[in-house]
Amino acid sequence: MKYVYFFGDGTADGSADMKELLGGKGANLAEMTNLGIPVPPGFTITTDVCTHFYEHDKQYPSELEKQVTDALQQTETVMGRKFGDPADPLLISVRSGAAVSMPGMMETVLNVGLTSKTIPGLIEKSGSARFVWDAYRRLIMMYSDVVMEKAAGVEPEDGIGIRERLEELIEERKTAKEVQLDTELSAEDWEELSDLFKKTVKDVLGAQFPDDPYDQLWGGVGAVFQSWNGRRAVSYRRIEGLPDEMGTAVNVQAMVFGNMGDSCATGVGFTRNPATGDNHFYGEWLSNAQGEDVVAGIRTPNPLNEWGRGDQNAHLPTLKEAMPEIYTQLDEIRSNLETHYRDMQDIEFTIENDRLWMLQTRVGKRNGAAAIKMAVDMHQEELITAQEAVMRVLPSQLDELLHPMVDPHAESSADDLAHGLPAGPGGATGQIVFTADDAEAWAKDGKQVILVRNETSPEDVHGMHAAEAILTAKGGITSHAALVARGWGKCCIVGCGSLHIDRHQKTIHVNGQVLKEGDWITLNGTKGIVYADELSLTPADPLRNESFKKLMTIADGVRTLGVRTNADRPEDAEQAHTFGAEGIGLCRTEHMFFDPERITAMREMIVAETEEARRKAVMKLLPFQRHDFYEILKAMHDLPVTIRLLDPPLHEFVTLTSEQTVGLAQKLELNLDKLQSRIESLHELNPMLGHRGCRLGIAYPEITEMQARAIFEAAAQLSKEDVKVLPEVMIPLVGTAAEFEHQEAIVRKVADEVKSETGVDFPYLVGTMIEIPRACLTADEIAPKAEFFSFGTNDLTQTTYGFSRDDIGGFLPSYLEEEILPHDPFQSLDQSGVGQLVQMGVEKGRAVKDDLKIGICGEHGGDPASIDFCYRSGLDYVSCSPFRVPIARLAAAQAVIVNE
Ligand code: PEP
Ligand code: MG
Repeated sequence: MKYVYFFGDGTADGSADMKELLGGKGANLAEMTNLGIPVPPGFTITTDVCTHFYEHDKQYPSELEKQVTDALQQTETVMGRKFGDPADPLLISVRSGAAVSMPGMMETVLNVGLTSKTIPGLIEKSGSARFVWDAYRRLIMMYSDVVMEKAAGVEPEDGIGIRERLEELIEERKTAKEVQLDTELSAEDWEELSDLFKKTVKDVLGAQFPDDPYDQLWGGVGAVFQSWNGRRAVSYRRIEGLPDEMGTAVNVQAMVFGNMGDSCATGVGFTRNPATGDNHFYGEWLSNAQGEDVVAGIRTPNPLNEWGRGDQNAHLPTLKEAMPEIYTQLDEIRSNLETHYRDMQDIEFTIENDRLWMLQTRVGKRNGAAAIKMAVDMHQEELITAQEAVMRVLPSQLDELLHPMVDPHAESSADDLAHGLPAGPGGATGQIVFTADDAEAWAKDGKQVILVRNETSPEDVHGMHAAEAILTAKGGITSHAALVARGWGKCCIVGCGSLHIDRHQKTIHVNGQVLKEGDWITLNGTKGIVYADELSLTPADPLRNESFKKLMTIADGVRTLGVRTNADRPEDAEQAHTFGAEGIGLCRTEHMFFDPERITAMREMIVAETEEARRKAVMKLLPFQRHDFYEILKAMHDLPVTIRLLDPPLHEFVTLTSEQTVGLAQKLELNLDKLQSRIESLHELNPMLGHRGCRLGIAYPEITEMQARAIFEAAAQLSKEDVKVLPEVMIPLVGTAAEFEHQEAIVRKVADEVKSETGVDFPYLVGTMIEIPRACLTADEIAPKAEFFSFGTNDLTQTTYGFSRDDIGGFLPSYLEEEILPHDPFQSLDQSGVGQLVQMGVEKGRAVKDDLKIGICGEHGGDPASIDFCYRSGLDYVSCSPFRVPIARLAAAQAVIVNE
């Protein structure tokens, strides 16, 4: 059995596709070696040994020792030095490396092989006692920390680990010598500190620091395997859902030094700019330094080349200027690695006495804009396929481009004030206001405001629109504030339970602080974090980003699901259209009734006592509605527009203050007592399960008639104007076939009337929302008449779980914390529960009508995981808020590729 894989001098036993056996780091070191790239030689002990170690009471396989000795000899041959040789010692590093990168878990011991016997030889060879004693004290620090304390399972006294104790000794020495920097300590200082370190290790940990190179090597190897089941690694795997069986490999590699003098250096680089995606070699280096010095931030690193020049390093020489030959060699390696790995690489290198060594390559992290540019450019360069380009961008990275974001630098140094549910992505900053009217008035004065409320209602819409963002103490991800904000692409946080809002005092008490009207706050709506400060934002302008547009075109070539939008204002429909929406999947009509002129007619209808009076009142709304539908059908010409008939609980229209009631009584010339008792009679204990949806149209058919007439008269008018229209009338909250048929009959009758009155024959469909479990269970009874289904997964989630969509904010945090729910089911579809009902609805519906058009218009239509589910369930389209349309296009393409 082969347990040890050698790499060095142009050949390696392993390769990049052996990540499971060699770990990510080991596999890439082997791959780079095979590519002829100069990599310090060494070997990888496989993850199989880790498995064996745990299955055999922490014993190694019997063959291991010999294989390690042989590989070490090969390493010695390539380097021309021997491990433990007093005259010219080889030093090695020991590092962990699992198949999946586990940042922060990486156990590392450097400079292994330095002992009382080899130190004099290395001083002689390197010509620098300071360098050697510095290397030795680093070895003691790392070894005592990783091997003698953590791996040995020693719990540090008072929580102060050995490493921290040794750091303190360095600080004491610097204070005594009145110096600031480590670099100001001399060879003698480090030599004396090394002695002090060893003594402290013995005192604190009760064991001698090993002075034999092989003891050090095996100590390091054992510690890496031991660390696999250390507390940090185990909890990291739990959080990331990684399997325990995977195991880690151990990489043992010859040390090369960037800190042996002025012909030495070290650096890091990216094969393309990770912040912009530009196809330029980008990175930093330091002469006479170790890798950790580049990241430590004590010295300002030099730029690699002109692309890395900025204000702070303008005076420093580039590597290209300082070491032109090495730079050329490095630049060639950069191209080779990128062509080979076909992705942007993050690399580390060291130059030892004018010789370049590559220490690491891995796929580099990047921000959203860079990810998009690289994917599109690499596809154009024929480096990757269309499919690969689509998979290279995360939907969340696309989101970064669609909204202004809180500047990450500003955010990293700000303190969180409170946390809520991330209802509308992006960032916003503004002054606190407490009412919609104030929001509108302040905004008119040119102020930036954030509307803070317990919850919002349709009557707040003008203020919500004027505000930069909306913050509510209550409500869930499908609450009114969340739906409206998302429709406009506005930043929004809901369910922020720690806010105690006093509307009269105009103050917020939150986590021990008091905020007043006019105070500045900043919201990160992507994460749901509130800051008590004005933080800077980074702006969004996706349509001017050529790469973004190209990525969308590539995604469209791959996806099969249609993408529509939820929009009820022509501006939003147009916005969605520019983002590529292929129609409207949900035009809600309720907000259209809240304008002062309209709401009176609506209230008049509701309180009317006779059918005639009701009809008279509702018909006052016809011209308004006709105009609404005219505009929206026109904005979406040539594309289908699904218009949903009135849906909300009736009482929402008559929630009035006593003054408003008096005003209404006067306006309608009604007896006040009578009006009051009529309003009281409409009060419901459970409005979400009360008089709403198609129940309105059944109790008050005039509403359906009026809405149908408005839709069809607008359609007839537009047809006359040669605008192609495709209205789809949708009946809400249907639970029985009879409910649907009742409403359908009214709609079709009105359609016939309008056609004969106008002499225009326009196309239209009548279909239904599927948002009540009973509609899924009886989909085969509803489908024969319905021309389409659209899953309203907001209500379907509410009614399946029995969770109120407006009140989930109250208990969701505990549910998530206790892991009772994996995520908010109103945000990402509950595939195993609610999903079964969706699948049943599709199957039963298509069983009786095989070409039944089926979509989804709940909030889940813009969630990538739910889109994948919709694709697998055979839906025709998803519909989502305008700013989610690009994400849905990408996610729909990714669904095709992932499920292939
Ligand atoms: C739904 O219930 O999923 C839906 C889209 O309708 P609304 O959110 O308006 O109830
Ligand atoms: Mg609904």
